[in-house]
Amino acid sequence: MAIERCGFRYRKRSNRFPRSGIRVRKPPFIDHRGLSFRMTPRPNLYPQATPEKQFAHEIVRRLDERGFIAYFAGGCVRDAILGNDPHDFDVATNATTDQVRSVFGPNQTRAVGEAFGVVLVHGKWHGQKCQVEVATFRSDGAYSDGRRPDWVVFTSPENDAQRRDFTINGLFYDPIEEKVIDYVGGREDLERKVLRAIGNPEARIGEDKLRMLRAIRFAARFGLALDPNTQQAIVRNAEQIQAVSGERIGVELTKILEHPSRHWAWEKLVGTGLTQYVIPELHSRWTDASQREKELSLLRQLPKTPVLFPISLAAILYPWFQEISGQRLELESMAAAIQDRWKLSNIEMDVVQYAIRNAEVLVQGETLPWSLVQPVLTSRFFEPALVLAEAIARNREVPVRGIEYCRSKLQSPESFWNPRPFLDGSDLVRAGLKPGPGFATLLARARQMQLDGDLKSKEEAVAWLKTMIDHGS
Ligand code: ATP
Ligand code: MG
Repeated sequence: MAIERCGFRYRKRSNRFPRSGIRVRKPPFIDHRGLSFRMTPRPNLYPQATPEKQFAHEIVRRLDERGFIAYFAGGCVRDAILGNDPHDFDVATNATTDQVRSVFGPNQTRAVGEAFGVVLVHGKWHGQKCQVEVATFRSDGAYSDGRRPDWVVFTSPENDAQRRDFTINGLFYDPIEEKVIDYVGGREDLERKVLRAIGNPEARIGEDKLRMLRAIRFAARFGLALDPNTQQAIVRNAEQIQAVSGERIGVELTKILEHPSRHWAWEKLVGTGLTQYVIPELHSRWTDASQREKELSLLRQLPKTPVLFPISLAAILYPWFQEISGQRLELESMAAAIQDRWKLSNIEMDVVQYAIRNAEVLVQGETLPWSLVQPVLTSRFFEPALVLAEAIARNREVPVRGIEYCRSKLQSPESFWNPRPFLDGSDLVRAGLKPGPGFATLLARARQMQLDGDLKSKEEAVAWLKTMIDHGS
């Protein structure tokens, strides 16, 4: 999937930071209520000394050695406090991009967002390639497009925390002093399990409408309640989500639907009114609470692990597809509309449609002719269809026998569940037929009979072919 493009030009207003070499006193630790504090050292915040963590630590150490302030920032602090291994580390510093490049040298740095003050520092730690985004503390200027600031101003750590979206994402960690630095009340919110916008939620959402989806994504992912003011601001501004590009919405929805918390998140998307704008075709189906419960119960039945996004989307569309009695064309046009809006790839939408169309065959696998089930088992989209089928069976509270039957078939050698066809085109030519459209029909019929055990050998198949030709079929 295409990554968000950063096509904006940013105006760098000023650089208020000391040049390298001047030792800067670190600010006192001040919490969001204005109280100075010193956190109890948490040497175990990062119990896993992963190469990425060590590499990020080394970056902070080298910046600190040159007199700059540098902290771990954002998601990697939040994740560590929650006891999760961060998947990547971001460093925030008062060094400017030029200063960061001079500390690490041109071979170890790459400018990835000069105008935002972001430099990628890369290198190896114990033989493993690592990279860390190092960003200069900044404040955002006005947001005229509802998504990105028109300019940024380089500023203090506290202001940098204030420009971040949610309190849980506004934390810093000083790995040298082993201290969490919290200007926004993020630790308390993590403890109270609340997702809260930093500052005035209405204004923060007004700046960047994508934050509405991010709020629901983070709350779902970490099992947090949405702070009532933040939630109300989302409800009031839901319509504004249309200012965000469909592609960016697609990226967020993909992350939401892949995560095991997908059912809770989708309920929130409906409850806040966001689905009215991100998937208007189906929103009205979910407005009545009891119908919504029924329609979305399939999402609840998906595995409690990450699943491919198209499987979740298929689970959302499936009740509608059943209601329209499985009309293929309707499904195609719905899929095309969603694909176009969220800029999904062809393969993603192929998986969605394939799973929807074939799940039922797998649910009933063991009761249907093998020639109906076998082509689904041999399809490259078999696994997503099977995951959806299992959720459908569980949702109907029927035994998952069909799914077990398919899985057990696949345990046997491939020659058993996908034998070579007895006949191919050359057999038809040898039998005196001229290539033409009838070939495919004959071969498909022969394959079906082979799979269903009505033809047991190549000889039987050739004999059957001869009869067909003699009867002019
Ligand atoms: P993830 O594990 O999903 O990557 P993350 O917290 O690292 O979570 P990112 O989207 O990578 O999330 O952003 C890194 C940090 O940048 C966030 O923690 C947050 O502080 C800040 N941030 C990102 N997007 C926004 C935004 N739209 N508005 C304000 N701050 C943001
Ligand atoms: Mg991140």
